[in-house]
Amino acid sequence: TRILGIEGTAWAASAAVYDAATDDVFIESDAYQPESGGIHPREAAEHMHDAIPRVVETALEHARDTHDGPEDEAPVDAVAFSKGPGLGPCLRIVGTAARALSQALEVPLVGVNHMVAHLEIGRHTADFDSPVCLNASGANAHLLAYRNGRYRVLGETMDTGVGNAIDKFTRHVGWSHPGGPKVEAAAEDGEYVDLPYVVKGMDFSFSGIMSAAKQRYDDEVPIEDICFSLQENVFGMLTEVAERALSLTGSDELVLGGGVGQNARLREMLAEMCDQRGADFHAPEPRFLRDNAGMIAVLGAKMYDAGDTVALEDSRVDPNYRPDQVPVTWRTDEPE
Ligand code: ATP
Repeated sequence: TRILGIEGTAWAASAAVYDAATDDVFIESDAYQPESGGIHPREAAEHMHDAIPRVVETALEHARDTHDGPEDEAPVDAVAFSKGPGLGPCLRIVGTAARALSQALEVPLVGVNHMVAHLEIGRHTADFDSPVCLNASGANAHLLAYRNGRYRVLGETMDTGVGNAIDKFTRHVGWSHPGGPKVEAAAEDGEYVDLPYVVKGMDFSFSGIMSAAKQRYDDEVPIEDICFSLQENVFGMLTEVAERALSLTGSDELVLGGGVGQNARLREMLAEMCDQRGADFHAPEPRFLRDNAGMIAVLGAKMYDAGDTVALEDSRVDPNYRPDQVPVTWRTDEPE
């Protein structure tokens, strides 16, 4: 099976070709970089409009170069696209591109849930059976686990996504987008100052801690100390809930997903927690953690093989597409 994947939920215009026979994932991405402030939906959509045709052309070239079938045969078996969740104006461009390509290449369409793709790429690269997944991305933060044909949301943020929360703080202090890597660098020289820590059962909240962090900055607390403490508390909260999710499900596998998963301190905390309970931990390589079409193509292949394609007239994008809305057609495990 060979799948062309297209991703464009927010900032990454990305196209990929996944070849199941060789397990090779070719990814071409073009990131939107806001000139000031955070992600602006209209500007992000303009970026998609310019960049999607370019990245798709590069991916298709790769697909043609590596295709050993007849000349007149399509170089891929299907076109998979990120159907949601994400920014509506961006998703609509991706949906239109995917429909056009599916018609031009005369291959079926596969509509992929972006959050489930974050999880499945972790499961795929780790060869894990039935892990709990911590999705720590820009616009999201949640714990997922499989049960009875669906990925269930076991715990989630009560306000913003974890990356967006960090980015709001860095905007306040005048750092350019994205803020996560800058906080990580500054935290290296920091010491702990008191900040809120908010976990309620399986859910968590970032708004109080971010307001307090901004206040500390305005009170002239050294920025390194605030960054250090932000990481300790925010990642500590995620680690605590991830542990509770492992305990609740009885799973001994944890995978990480999302752009914030590139953070070494978060990975260290999760690895340590897993080590202490005898669980296995897997963080995919960075190109699979941040938004990328590789994960769309890989899950697209599993869905295609399960016959889970979508007719043109049912291929509308869904900005609020939740992971627990997705019938998991590609897993054959017995319900637990
Ligand atoms: P979603 O997948 O929920 O739609 P998204 O599209 O915003 O989210 P991702 O690529 O998953 O994108 O994550 C981007 C976020 O990751 C940004 O908020 C950025 O600040 C954060 N990030 C990137 N690198 C790091 C890092 N080293 N430490 C912490 N955060 C990071």
